[in-house]
Amino acid sequence: MMTDLHHLTEEQRAIIATARAFADEHVRPYADQWDRAGHFEPSLVRRLGDLGFLGMLLPTEYDGLGLDARSYLLALEEIAAADASTAVMMSVHNSLPTQMLNAFGTPEQKRRFLAPMARGELLGAFALSEPDAGSDASAIRCQARRDGDDWIVEGTKAWVTSGTHAGVIIAMIRTDTPEARRRSKGISAFILTPDLPGFTVGKKEDKMGLRASPTVQLVFDGMRVPGDRMLGAEGQGFIYAMQSLEHGRLGISAQSIGIARAAFEAARAYAMERKQFGQPIAEFQGVQFKLADMATRLTAARALLHTVAAAKDRGVLVPGEVSMCKLFASEMAMWVTTQAIQVFGGYGYMKEYPVEKYFRDAKVTEIYEGTSEVQRIVIGRAVSKPQ
Ligand SMILES: Cc1cc2nc3c(=O)[nH]c(=O)nc-3n(C[C@H](O)[C@H](O)[C@H](O)COP(=O)(O)OP(=O)(O)OC[C@H]3O[C@@H](n4cnc5c(N)ncnc54)[C@H](O)[C@@H]3O)c2cc1C
Repeated sequence: MMTDLHHLTEEQRAIIATARAFADEHVRPYADQWDRAGHFEPSLVRRLGDLGFLGMLLPTEYDGLGLDARSYLLALEEIAAADASTAVMMSVHNSLPTQMLNAFGTPEQKRRFLAPMARGELLGAFALSEPDAGSDASAIRCQARRDGDDWIVEGTKAWVTSGTHAGVIIAMIRTDTPEARRRSKGISAFILTPDLPGFTVGKKEDKMGLRASPTVQLVFDGMRVPGDRMLGAEGQGFIYAMQSLEHGRLGISAQSIGIARAAFEAARAYAMERKQFGQPIAEFQGVQFKLADMATRLTAARALLHTVAAAKDRGVLVPGEVSMCKLFASEMAMWVTTQAIQVFGGYGYMKEYPVEKYFRDAKVTEIYEGTSEVQRIVIGRAVSKPQ
């Protein structure tokens, strides 16, 4: 197994085995059917929670497993190899809302929200993007104004992963005033729950891929948010969100690697079985070269991810390296899934075979949690300074 390159501990091997057994029983057999129906399977949340997979990075004090980033990313790769939609639900939950609550929440907020999230009783979502604010996230317009101890919020959030089923949404909302805009410093983070008056789940998107992961608008129409739902300090929400996206981008890298691995394994198996010109196509050097390049890029992406994740665990991250992982792994996934279709020939284009789903699922990894262009901006800034 390629991950052996990374000197796994006994505990990490056990996590991989658990994740793989879970995926084989509860995810892989249904992934195709969920994809076709655009169905999100809510029982996965409780099941993943029972395994501890929704609190992998959280302290045991809040019912988390207290694991290192590498262990979490290994589990995520296994889930993504079975179904990218299930993986994004797990990745967003573990990387964004729970990380923000853990880092910036009060003890009371952590007891109330974080511990049930770790147990899988509450699913988490992250609401930063808006219809007119994507890559330029500091241009968000959702606006809060004070009303006594409460805040009244107006606006719309776009493309919130798991938004239909989330019990906790960490949302970035402006708390400056339209008269005195402070760009990123005028944004605060709030802990939202669907029971808040004025909160509604809006349009559900009909997507190319990740079809079993609901992506929705959230509409705030005079939504009343109690003052104690602010997360951390006023005006710091944008900074918190950018910090948590560091975890998120490692998660999306693991998701990309999982998707690409599934595509590679399917292509290899097919190449050994499919005969043309009287022999398995895997015996043609032209096909072997494709498999060789796929395996090489996959191994390189995994090696980069685990090197950077280990640096994160040791607290010695180098600026730009998380973006390098996300950029390299997502572009690798798009490339590998494209090659997988080529190895399958015409059958690769048919829904009867799995590789067209991998291809559709891979594309979004180059877009969300910062597009490839945004990752290049971050890396470019980091590497063009005097060292
Ligand atoms: C399936 C899915 C799930 C999502 N889930 C979430 C979620 O849970 N929470 C959330 O907050 N958001 C979520 N998003 C939103 C996602 O993060 C944004 O789509 C992404 O940040 C890009 O923003 P945009 O779509 O507005 O594209 P734009 O920012 O409009 O970009 C359009 C194009 O212009 C390029 N571009 C923009 N600025 C520059 C520049 N300065 N230099 C060079 N090129 C540039 C981009 O790279 C891109 O190619 C999700 C999106 C999708 C598709």
